[in-house]
This record gives sequence, structure tokens and C-alpha cells, in this order.
Amino acid sequence: MSNPWRDDFPILKQRVNDERLAYLDNAATSQKPQAVIDTVTHFYEHDNANVHRGVHTLAERSTSRYEEARRKVQQFIHAQRSDEIIFTKGCTDSLNLVTSTYGNQVIHAGDEIVITIMEHHSNLIPWQQLAKQKGAKLKYIDIDENGQLKMDQAARLITDRTKIVAVTHISNVLGTVNPIQQLAAIAHQHHAVIVVDGAQAVAHLPVNVQELGADFYAFSGHKMLSPTGIGVLYGRHNLLAKMTPYQYGGEMIAEVHQQESTWAEPPFRFEAGTQNIAGAIGLGAAIDYLNQVGMDKIQHHEQEMVKDLLPRIVKMPGVTVYGPHDADKHTGVIAFNIDGIHPHDVATALDMDGVAVRAGHHCAQPLMERLGVPATVRASLAFYNDQQDIDQLLAAIQDTKEFFK
Ligand code: PLP
Repeated sequence: MSNPWRDDFPILKQRVNDERLAYLDNAATSQKPQAVIDTVTHFYEHDNANVHRGVHTLAERSTSRYEEARRKVQQFIHAQRSDEIIFTKGCTDSLNLVTSTYGNQVIHAGDEIVITIMEHHSNLIPWQQLAKQKGAKLKYIDIDENGQLKMDQAARLITDRTKIVAVTHISNVLGTVNPIQQLAAIAHQHHAVIVVDGAQAVAHLPVNVQELGADFYAFSGHKMLSPTGIGVLYGRHNLLAKMTPYQYGGEMIAEVHQQESTWAEPPFRFEAGTQNIAGAIGLGAAIDYLNQVGMDKIQHHEQEMVKDLLPRIVKMPGVTVYGPHDADKHTGVIAFNIDGIHPHDVATALDMDGVAVRAGHHCAQPLMERLGVPATVRASLAFYNDQQDIDQLLAAIQDTKEFFK
């Protein structure tokens, strides 16, 4: 399972603690290929100007590259229209946008919001706070012993009182892929909308928001090879058109008078102030790169790595792996603990062997409570990982067990 892509990522050429770097913290953030780094540098060296304001050459170039990036995102996630793509600061910002505009408009006392026990805090706290403010009820879909959503329970919890169903596409802890199409169908039967957190999905499998039936789909650029500080909210045009602005200021208006203002059409209504222009252009370059590799190929390569890694780690004595143990139900996010060793100590020990993983609650404390653990170690794969990374991780886990014996 060697791959031709690792060499495209300059950061991976370094040694860490005198060891080859096995970067397995991709769920936290991805590394950036040279093509993205070069595109951002080129933008600042040649095209930098504010967008949608000036008529000079640089302003026109910058605006056209920014809008081209929007069209690239549209095509990448198969949205029907480019004005359904809003640039945000990241997935958290996208989800807060939905809660404070759409959520604020449609949720009233007695309404229900249905989420899942595996949500990242950024697709949990905004709904929790909205529910509190409005006197609405927040309900959770639970998981079964394999870390998969209880769909029979979902069908019972989502009712005509439900206004919003918010669910992650892929769990950032369990590595499970949720049945979004099925959940969307249930939500729509009850005239609710479905908000999908795509943070862990967009860089790992082909996403088609129309086929999924997603009404909103949120993700971050930095988890898909782009710079930090850029993200996307996809929203169905008919919903966006009825939504109030998120923030107020320059470029989101139609007209401003002393006492009254009117709003620009989407997506500009939701992009107040100067945006992360270089970030958006970098995201466009990341999409070009991902398309060049091919999302099907990426999904296949990651699945092959999971098929190798998962059974080997599951079999290790003294190691508990959370989520499904069946590679077919698992993406490349693998959470585990080693008996008797604190996850932070494990992560520090693995780092000594050049292996970068994350330890902690992964911003999913209700899920940790549900699993009955305060924290886990998490190894997360990307398509630029290879067999050597997997072997290095497993050897480092073995070393760690022996060191703490
Ligand atoms: N949702 C999931 C499932 C995540 O894994 C993350 C980040 O780890 C987020 C949302 C939040 O992303 P960001 O911190 O880039 O806004």
C-alpha cells in the first residue's frame, strides 16, 4: 500500500524525534500538498486585492479567482447552484451560522431538535443553546454496541414536532459513516430539515449533497488539504433565500439608509466583511488536487489501509478499540485505549517513535460518557498515509505497552 502522493506533502519529509514522521492526526487537521502552498503564495505574490469592491485589474483577478473557488466547491459536492455555497471560517462557524439564522427563525417553544450522541461539540452546543433559549427540546439518537446509530430509535424520535435533525456524516471518534440518505428521508417525511456535519467526510469519500438529501452541509477547508480559517456551508437555495443575515457589515447589503437596511442575495448576505480570500483560493486548489487524485481512489486506498490496520489493532492484547470492528463499516478514524495507560501518555510515547496521533475527548464528551471513558487515543488516516505509517503505529503501540509494563 505504497502511494505516489506522500511526496507531494513537504511537511512529511521531516523526521520527528529522529524518526520517520507517521502523521496519523488527519481528523484534527490535514497536511497541505505543495500545489496548495504554491497557489496561496502565488495569490499573495501576484493577485492579492479585496474582492467584489474594486474595478482595478488586481481586484478583478482576485474576485474572479474567489468566485471560481466557489464554483469548484459547488461541483465538488454536487450542489445545484454556486450561490448555495457560503464561505465561512470553518465547520464550527458554518454550524453556528445555521443555528443562529435558520435555527433561530424556525425553532419555537415546544419544538424538537434531534441530534446524535456521537456529535462533535460544534454540532451539539449550538443546538443545545438554541433549544435552551427557545424552550425547545434536544433529543439524542443513541448508538448500538458497534458504534452505529440506532435507526429504529431515530425513526421513533423524529416526529412532526421535529424541526431540525443535525447529524455528522462520519464520526470523528468511531469512524462510522452515518446513513444520511435514510435520516434525510425520515426528516423530510416530517417536514424537518437535515443539517449534516461533513467535517470528517469531504476529504475521504465522494460527497453529493443532492443525493444525500442534505438541506445544509458544513465542512472545514483545513481538514481537506486547505489553509485554516476557511470553511463552507452549503444550503438549499430556497432555505437560504428566506434566512436572515448571520452578521452585519460591508458587502452583505442591498441598500443601507439611516434607519433601515436591506440584504444582498445569498451567498453574499452571509459573507459580511472581508473574507478569507486566500483561504478560499487555497481551498479551490485543494479541490483541484483531490480531483486529480480522484475521490474514488482516495476512498479505496483508505479502505485498504483500514482493512489492514483494524484487525491487527483489534487483536493486540490489552488494546480496546471503540466503534465497529468490521473494516467494512469503518473509515480511517480509529479510537483506542491501552489498558492501564492514560491516553495522553500513550500519545506522548507514540510521538517519541515519530507517530502523531491525538489523545483526549475529541470534542465529543457526551460520546465519551456513553462509551464510559474520559478519553481515547485516536489514529486517523488520510490517503497520503501508507503501509509504513500503519506498521510504525502498531510497532509504537507495542513499544509503549512494553515501556509502561
Ligand atoms: N465536526 C466534526 C465531526 C469534527 O471532527 C470537527 C473538528 O474536529 C468539527 C466539526 C469542527 O471543525 P473546525 O474546528 O474546523 O470548525
